[in-house]
Amino acid sequence: MDMQVRTYSGTTTQVEETEIAALRTVLRGTVCLPDDAGYDAARSVWNAMIDRRPAMIIQAAGAADVIQAVNFARDHGSALAVRGGGHNITGNAVCDGGVVLDLSRMRSVHVDPAARRARVEGGALLSDVDKETQAFGLAVPVGINSTTGIAGLTLGGGFGWTSRKLGLSIDSLESVDIVTADGQLRRADAAQNADLFWAVRGGGGNFGVATSFEFKLHELGPQVVAGLLVHPLDAAAALIPQYRSLVAAAPDELTCWLVLRKAPAAPFIPVEWHDKEVLVIALCHCGPIAKGQEAAAPFRALGKPIVDLVQPQPFVGWESAFDPLLTPGARNYWKSHDLKDFTEAAGSVIVDAIRRLPSNECEVFVGHLGGQVSRVPSDATAFSRRDVEFIVNVHTRWREPGQDSACIAWARALFDALTPHASGSVYVNFMPDDETDRVRGAYGANYDRLAVIKQRYDPQNMFRLNQNIAS
Ligand SMILES: Cc1cc2nc3c(=O)[nH]c(=O)nc-3n(C[C@H](O)[C@H](O)[C@H](O)COP(=O)(O)OP(=O)(O)OC[C@H]3O[C@@H](n4cnc5c(N)ncnc54)[C@H](O)[C@@H]3O)c2cc1C
Repeated sequence: MDMQVRTYSGTTTQVEETEIAALRTVLRGTVCLPDDAGYDAARSVWNAMIDRRPAMIIQAAGAADVIQAVNFARDHGSALAVRGGGHNITGNAVCDGGVVLDLSRMRSVHVDPAARRARVEGGALLSDVDKETQAFGLAVPVGINSTTGIAGLTLGGGFGWTSRKLGLSIDSLESVDIVTADGQLRRADAAQNADLFWAVRGGGGNFGVATSFEFKLHELGPQVVAGLLVHPLDAAAALIPQYRSLVAAAPDELTCWLVLRKAPAAPFIPVEWHDKEVLVIALCHCGPIAKGQEAAAPFRALGKPIVDLVQPQPFVGWESAFDPLLTPGARNYWKSHDLKDFTEAAGSVIVDAIRRLPSNECEVFVGHLGGQVSRVPSDATAFSRRDVEFIVNVHTRWREPGQDSACIAWARALFDALTPHASGSVYVNFMPDDETDRVRGAYGANYDRLAVIKQRYDPQNMFRLNQNIAS
């Protein structure tokens, strides 16, 4: 049957049944249409707020399929969403009425331990990368939730437990294979297509479809000192300034985040604290165990924790420690600020908001950066925000659609209250889809150079379902 497909200008175009049949013939992967089994699973993304119905989902099996899909979408002028891990809060990995190019079957990770390199396909998840590399005691710096996609995370920058020591994910990127809007598969690295290589390191999905990434690997673990220190929220006013002083003196190996929320009903939390507001210090030291114990000691000596779970443990396990709180299927809305400093005043704004949580699953993460991230010049890659020391992520999460307005209003109010304490920039990967006014700020001083490269590789703005760089 012929079908109507939405174009990227918002009109519709007719695609004939014979064209879909021809596409199926050339693909190694599959074309999933609305009446096909698996369509609803294939259009679902991490954030359950997103409920979009694409006309067609092309489930690629390799780079050749990606070329076919890009050519197909371009020749029909169809709206094109690109899906890696499907984790982005905006839901840009899926679109209404257009074509989704789904890379989730492309998850291979090939590690060369001697050369200390890994080639990772564009649909791999962080857990794929962690497990394959840690088998050799090696690692790529990635994020803190192992079900996140490597592609979206890396193209936006990518930071987590090891970034202060090893830099952002993009700082370990050696090359990327990418299909640009003209359907060409290009290798971008320091020597070839160097402009494109610069742009994909922080410029998001604006420049094409990354079929694979080559990362430099670092020695790490496999055991590290890591864990949680859970404190009553009432202790936060005293703890936050002490935390601030301790992280200022922390070695690069130590990364120490704060999480403020209601304690989950987890077996490691005493029952009397379940659903009570807590401040969690989450830390990871990516060096030798003895050094890790030493670096963690002053944090463990703070206050009187309800529970102290800091201990040597497998790094690959710690990388998934937050997964149970960050499962797909909940409704989510995020607001995020960059901070150059985490002041007492900013801390008290957050603590005040935590006393008025609109749902048990809402939380505020304070991510800890600096170290090696800040030693790379801000124009060396497209990621410009190298001077940010902390990222506050207002992570609003709930189950019932009836709670939408209360939860979103809470997030926006906290975001507004924090604005005077923030630097004004934002991490491109943490922006919700209603923040189009912050896109230029997210790319910062690198925006104009990105716009020139965008014009060179994607003059029609075919890749626009992202934090879009328009000229
Ligand atoms: C629970 C949770 C925890 C997170 N923690 C961290 C963290 O610790 N550190 C951090 O840095 N970030 C973190 N993030 C943010 C994360 O980096 C972004 O959501 C990222 O976009 C996810 O990538 P993805 O491939 O899963 O997303 P998708 O939703 O699949 O893709 C997001 C966008 O990336 C582009 N894209 C995806 N795949 C490709 C590809 N192969 N080629 C070209 N473009 C592509 C597309 O524009 C797409 O719209 C977290 C997100 C969540 C939901």
